[in-house]
Amino acid sequence: MNITKIEWTDYSWNPITGCNNNCSYCYAKKMALRLKGRSGYDKENPFKPTFHSERLNQPIQRTKPSMIFTCSMGDFFDFEVKSAWREDVYSVMDKSKWHAYQILTKQPIIEPEFRAVFPKNLWLGISIDGTSKYWKEPLETLKNSSATIKFVSFEPILGDDIPDDLSKIDWAIIGAQTGIGAKKVNPRIVDKVVDLITSCNIPLFVKPNIRWQIKETSDPEWLIREEFPISFQKNKAMIGV
Ligand code: SF4
Repeated sequence: MNITKIEWTDYSWNPITGCNNNCSYCYAKKMALRLKGRSGYDKENPFKPTFHSERLNQPIQRTKPSMIFTCSMGDFFDFEVKSAWREDVYSVMDKSKWHAYQILTKQPIIEPEFRAVFPKNLWLGISIDGTSKYWKEPLETLKNSSATIKFVSFEPILGDDIPDDLSKIDWAIIGAQTGIGAKKVNPRIVDKVVDLITSCNIPLFVKPNIRWQIKETSDPEWLIREEFPISFQKNKAMIGV
């Protein structure tokens, strides 16, 4: 488990890595290729979904309530991730109720197979980049899931294929693409996303990586919003239990 620079969380924890989605801008894949043959990444196929059992209990050793971005280096709901791996991760979440765990996916969300509901301290989210309507099924399964907090991350926001309704969603993040060759954000698309989030009255976290780009052209009030889900208070990580 590592301290992370991602502004909306405290730590990243990767008991499962890898993904088959093949997004062109994937930071996790670049890292996995760089680390192939080391740090638990396969030599031949470093980004194949892999379970790292030795990392499983890391959050339990951290007693200070924290926000923990879980599986930042892959997709927790990838079709090659075994349900038994997910179950082991849910079990750690249950045992460490003082933390809030955040998972982001581009896949339809699968409820735990061996229990009725997700752990209460799990925030479930989907990533929408606006380049196609792949998010339709994931958004639907998210809205209908038992997750305590449901969120949408518009990062990197690259196109305007976005939903027109975010009812049942508790939190939204917006951010830009980063790294070498990153595309600049399109202010028209960003306005459309922010209008949607604002019209649905959803707390918004604006990533600094989008703030400096928008500031070059205008300085709207929403730029400074770094909000969290209403029911959550930072450092009191448990929700509703
Ligand atoms: S879904 Fe996420 S982890 Fe998978 S390739 Fe795309 S950006 Fe990477």
